[in-house]
Amino acid sequence: MNDRYDVIVIGAGPAGYVAAIRAAQLGLAVACVDDWVDPRGESALGGTCLNAGCIPSKVLLEASEIYDKARQGFADYGVSVSGVGLDLAAMMARKDRVVSELTRGIAGLFEANGVRRITGRGWLLSGCRVEVTPAQSRQTVVLEAGHVILATGSVPVQLDAAPLHANLIVDSTGALAFDTAPKRLGIIGAGVIGLELGAVWKRLGSEVVLLEAQPEFLSMCDRQVAQEALRQYRKQGLDIRLGARVTGCAVEDGRVGIEYQDDAGDHAETVDRLIVAAGRRPNSDGICAPDAEPVIDSGGFIHVDEQCRTSLPGVYAIGDLVRGPMLAHKGSEEGIMVAELIAGHAARVNYDAIPSVIYTRPEIAWAGMTEQALKTVDRPYRSGTFAFAANGRARALGDTGGFIKVLADAKTDRVLGVHMIGPHCSELIASAVLALEFGASSEDLAATMFAHPTLSETLHEAALDVGGRAIHRARKDRAKD
Ligand code: NAD
Repeated sequence: MNDRYDVIVIGAGPAGYVAAIRAAQLGLAVACVDDWVDPRGESALGGTCLNAGCIPSKVLLEASEIYDKARQGFADYGVSVSGVGLDLAAMMARKDRVVSELTRGIAGLFEANGVRRITGRGWLLSGCRVEVTPAQSRQTVVLEAGHVILATGSVPVQLDAAPLHANLIVDSTGALAFDTAPKRLGIIGAGVIGLELGAVWKRLGSEVVLLEAQPEFLSMCDRQVAQEALRQYRKQGLDIRLGARVTGCAVEDGRVGIEYQDDAGDHAETVDRLIVAAGRRPNSDGICAPDAEPVIDSGGFIHVDEQCRTSLPGVYAIGDLVRGPMLAHKGSEEGIMVAELIAGHAARVNYDAIPSVIYTRPEIAWAGMTEQALKTVDRPYRSGTFAFAANGRARALGDTGGFIKVLADAKTDRVLGVHMIGPHCSELIASAVLALEFGASSEDLAATMFAHPTLSETLHEAALDVGGRAIHRARKDRAKD
């Protein structure tokens, strides 16, 4: 094994593996150290996103939605189905197959790009050196690098009030591998993970109770979107209790007793299984020797500048380890930026144009500022909205709940934020991100031609509505003229 590289990346999640590939594309000698081991005991690239997060959860969201729709029937569409059944083992096996195809794909990309894959635990030493402890031995190796990129991701927050317990009290990883749908499922935290996992198991037959400490639902979302989401989730049967802080849990007779408090006092709930989805924290413990520690804040985030430089010369940190939303695509873009900076190029990430998505049904997606944030900073804006109910394609799909909202600067008309709830919003948000990235005005969106009949026309109409001229909306005030 070489012992000197231009770049050593510690961590092969979407931030680290993308940084490694980009650095190699730029002609640098790159090694990537990672210690993820899959349930079969084999090392696997891709980090949490591929192995235990974004990808397996999306496979189960898709599969559970197909099952749920088939179970409810397609009579409205003139299609009759019978004998619909659930083969959870097959569903889980498909999930594992998709994950393993993708993780093996990254291994192939490493090989094709000449990235040296090193399996083991990396530890940053002073002077841009990295000590690696291989998975199967205690024999450590010390590698030297011109630059080190820390990309060790994040881990689920553990709650003292709900310590993990075999298959009964689990974190998000355990919740992707249940062998049966629990009859009654409790979830602590109605954030992104709690809602996505709640959606999966509700569709697969569980009664789902979500206990959320915050009194406000989805506080990071546009208020109007959050209210519509809460209404639709509750209509689907998710039991979402807000202002409910879990204070203790006890396992008894194979079930989980939960104690929680809200404004009305103390309550108890019993469930068959409990998922703790109370947030994630940076995985920054024990990744650096004491004499090679960058500045880390009290929450465990490594302090970095706008271009992800830490306080140590030559050492960068990216992804969930540093400020900003814990999102795979944000980490990947930081990885590309850092690789390009190391290779001597100019590079930046536009932190004002990061898309966020919640992959429930309806899907929720947004980018840019919310209406409440604009009000807080006193920035005058104009708003346009359009409902999917008035969109022909949504009607054809039979999926008409939700709307798109465009927020634009009152003076310049520049698009400041776009918020969506409804069918395929995870895909529709890309046009909004392009608008933000290119500094488009709502007029630019309004003047753009969108194919008919598509869901994307809802974005067009919302942009037209900023100027009060949505076509497929009857305006009562105009009718009187
Ligand atoms: P989160 O912070 O979004 O939600 C956790 C929730 O748990 C919070 O609302 C919090 O108030 C609540 N909570 C904490 N302690 C509690 C207690 N004792 N009782 C009741 N409620 C309690 O975190 P998450 O959903 O775990 O997600 C973690 C990170 O992963 C987020 O940054 C998220 O963006 C990211 N993620 C993104 C996606 C996606 O892009 N679709 C999917 C999964 C995760």
